[in-house]
Order: sequence, then structure tokens, then C-alpha cells
Amino acid sequence: MNIYISFIYLLSAIGFIIGLKYMANPLKSKLGNQVSASAMAIAIIATIYWYITSDTIPNGVLVVALLLFGTFIGKYLSQKYAITQMPELISLFNAFGGLCAMIIGINESLIQDASHFGIVDKLILLLGVVLGAASFTGSIIAYYKLSGKMKLGINSRIYAISTLIFILILPLIHFLQPLQFNFLMLSIAVAALALVYGTLFAIPVGGADMPVLISILNAVTGVATALSGIIFESTIMLLGGILVGSTGILLTMQMCKAMNRSLKTVLIGSIKMANTTSESNVEQNIQSISSPETATLLAFSKNIAIIPGFGMAVAQAQKECFEIQKRLEDNGAKVSYIIHPVAGRMPGHMNVLLAEANIDYKDIVDMEEVNHNMQDFDATIIIGANDVVNPAAEEDENSIIFGMPIIKAYNSKQVIVLKRSMASGYSGAVNTLFDRSNCRLLFGDAKNSLQQILEELKRI
Ligand code: NDP
Repeated sequence: MNIYISFIYLLSAIGFIIGLKYMANPLKSKLGNQVSASAMAIAIIATIYWYITSDTIPNGVLVVALLLFGTFIGKYLSQKYAITQMPELISLFNAFGGLCAMIIGINESLIQDASHFGIVDKLILLLGVVLGAASFTGSIIAYYKLSGKMKLGINSRIYAISTLIFILILPLIHFLQPLQFNFLMLSIAVAALALVYGTLFAIPVGGADMPVLISILNAVTGVATALSGIIFESTIMLLGGILVGSTGILLTMQMCKAMNRSLKTVLIGSIKMANTTSESNVEQNIQSISSPETATLLAFSKNIAIIPGFGMAVAQAQKECFEIQKRLEDNGAKVSYIIHPVAGRMPGHMNVLLAEANIDYKDIVDMEEVNHNMQDFDATIIIGANDVVNPAAEEDENSIIFGMPIIKAYNSKQVIVLKRSMASGYSGAVNTLFDRSNCRLLFGDAKNSLQQILEELKRI
């Protein structure tokens, strides 16, 4: 490969790494996204230029037309989905990445004379196809689950394992040749089986375990891309794949920790089954509270915790939250935001929301830092969080979220939960916090409730 192209790829890879670094900081995350996108654009232009000038691609116009088509789809999808649907959109994009790895792997088996491939090349190619195909269908299932279009949680694990065994057996038959079939047929067959495997693997996952599934799929797509990079001897594809794969693996490990599951149990498929029945009809002994009463309580509190959750993103209440924080701090109170690692619908969801409202990073604390002294908080305001504060995770062995670490909001002196109804959270589990004597529910859209509290605080 041309030395200049290699140099441009190196610059692009550096751009990806700088972009990732910026994305770790909520205040610089937008810039990080722009840097990464520019690095990707440079890599794409360099690749097209290289292939067209070296006559490897007979039809440059077609390539550019397809790229424009892809850009159009990406732009359309990004504009169509609201910010609260971002996790679903990411699942869709991840699915496209997997599909791409599968197609280019099969295409390589089609256009190349398989006799030129060594056994290692063939295995790498097959692995890329299998991972890409499994990630494609797994991500599509994740998309349907995250968007609430798919609620069923059939236990398909045994079928998934059987499919996996077939995927392993087929290459053995091809290489040991008790039956004769060519490499292209093998690639297509394992791709078809892997499509089925991805579906069967993802279907039973649900309840609160979705973050683990999403991060695994992310990692798998990255590895599939890296394997394609090896086959095509493309440094940028290899580097990009390694970056996505390794960050995905790190994220998976963090999510496993957050959900109190070992990576091994997740990988062998011991993820808990999703609830097929809603528990939200269970009778609960709750006490409600009004906005003025909440404002009075806050006005007399000196140490206040705010726990945001998915409902904060739905209501887009982060700015009102910041206004209230400023008001309370002017009143001499200390306000801390406690973020659970799986709050919301994507890793880092709450950090992004709070950064949008310019909430200072120093006011945000991780749950491990404060869980042991939650009793020091005079009041804890839970804004649209449910599963991540549900004590059933600690006390009810039958609960779908049992074992998941939670923010121990129930230990604070007074707890106010902002939500619209008695609907359950993502997992479908009944929230036993609502029955506690120190817990009050403030019903209504979180943004409206916070606006009313703010008005009351101004009057006090
Ligand atoms: P939950 O999904 O448990 O609860 C959200 C709450 O917000 C509900 O109680 C809902 O009640 C309330 N709500 C929704 N809209 C509004 C609104 N406009 N105003 C006020 N309240 C509202 O959220 P959590 O953040 O506590 O937990 C996240 C869950 O999602 C976990 O189970 C996690 O495993 C899962 N998950 C997380 C992912 C991640 O990567 N972070 C990815 C996929 C899943 P009501 O309808 O009554 O208002």
C-alpha cells in the first residue's frame, strides 16, 4: 500500500483515539464525536482514492453513489430518532456494522479462489462472518426490545447452543472432508446459522440485563471488523475494529460489574430471563405528595441527593433540575447527583443529560461512593428512576433484578419519587421502595413537577 495512504490511515487512527478520549468527558463529548467523524471521513476518502487510482475498483461512480446512499440513510435515521431513542439507534447502527462484516466476508469467499486461502485465513474469514452475522440479528432483537416493540422472553438458550454446535461442526466437515462442499457454501451456511444464533442468543435477555447484551454486541461487531481488517490487510479497518472491540469489552466488564454478573455467566448464556408478565398490577401501599409540599421539604433540607433515571430523559427535565439545584444551593443546601451505571437506556446516558444542562461534574457522584452513607441525606429526589433504586434487588430472591446493585435511596431520611403513574421500570419489577414509610410519590411529568417545585421555592 502507498506510503501516503498508510500515513493518512495513521492520522485517522490517531483521530479516533483523540475522539474517544474527548468522549470520556461529557463537556468535550460533542467535539470528540466531530473529531472521530472527521477521522472516519478522511479514512474513507483516502481508501476510495487508493482503490480508484490503483484500478482495483472498476466502477468508482458506483462506489461514490453507494457512499452517498449510506450517508443519506445515516442522516435520515439520526434525525428521525429523538434523543430518548438514541439507544435503539445505536443498536441499529451496530446491526449495520455486523451486517457489513458478514457481507464482505462472504463476498471475499465468492470473488477469491479459495485455494489461495491458507487454513488460518479461512478460519479468520469464517470467524468474521459468524461474529458479524450474530451481531447483526442480535442487535436487531436489541433494537426491538429497547423500543418496547418486543416484550417476549422465550427461553431459547438450548436452541442457541445447538446452533452454535452446528456452526463449529460445519468447518470441521469442510476441512476434514468426509463430505465435499466448497468454501463459499461453507461461508454462506455458517452465516445463515450465525444469523439464527444471534437471534436465539438475544431473545431471552431482558429485564435489567439489556446493558450487558448491548455492550457485548458492540464488542462483537468491533472484533468482526478487526478480523475483516486482517483479511483485507487494511490497517484502518483493523485499528477501528480493535478500538470498538476493546472499548466494547471494557464496557461489557463494567456493565457486568454494575449488574453483579460475571462475564463467564453472561457468555455461557446464564442471563436472567425477561419477565413475560407485568407485575405492575400488584397492590402497593403508597403515600403521595404535592409539589408545594415537596418544595417546603427541600427548602428545609441541608443535604440533598438527586437520582436521575430514564424518566428524566423522557421528560427532558435536566435544565429544571439545574435551576432547582442553584436555588437550593443559594439557600445554603448541598446538592449531589447520584448516578447508577445502568440508569437510562445506554451507558453514560445520565452523564450526557446532566452535561447538557451544564451541571458541574464535581456535583456528580457514583453510587459506590455514597451508598454507605445515604442516611446523611435529608431528602433524596428520584427523577424518573425506578429499577436502579428498587430494594427488591436486595431483598426479593424471586425478583428479576435480584442481585443487581442499587442506589440505597431507601436509607435517606426522606425520599420523593417523581413519576407519572404506578407503571414499573424497564425490568417490569414491582418497586418495593414505594411501600416504605419514608417514601412519597409525586405524580406527574417530571418537567412539570420540577417547574412547579421551582415556582414554590421562589415563593418560600
Ligand atoms: P426505569 O426504566 O427503571 O424507570 C423509568 C421511570 O421513569 C419509570 O418509573 C417511569 O414511570 C418514569 N418516567 C418515564 N417518563 C417519565 C416522565 N416524563 N416524567 C416522570 N417520570 C417518567 O429507569 P432506570 O433509569 O431506573 O433504570 C434503567 C433500566 O433500563 C434498568 O433496568 C437497566 O438495566 C435498563 N437498561 C439500561 C441500559 C443502559 O445501558 N443504561 C440499556 C438497556 C436497558 P412512569 O411511566 O410511571 O412515569
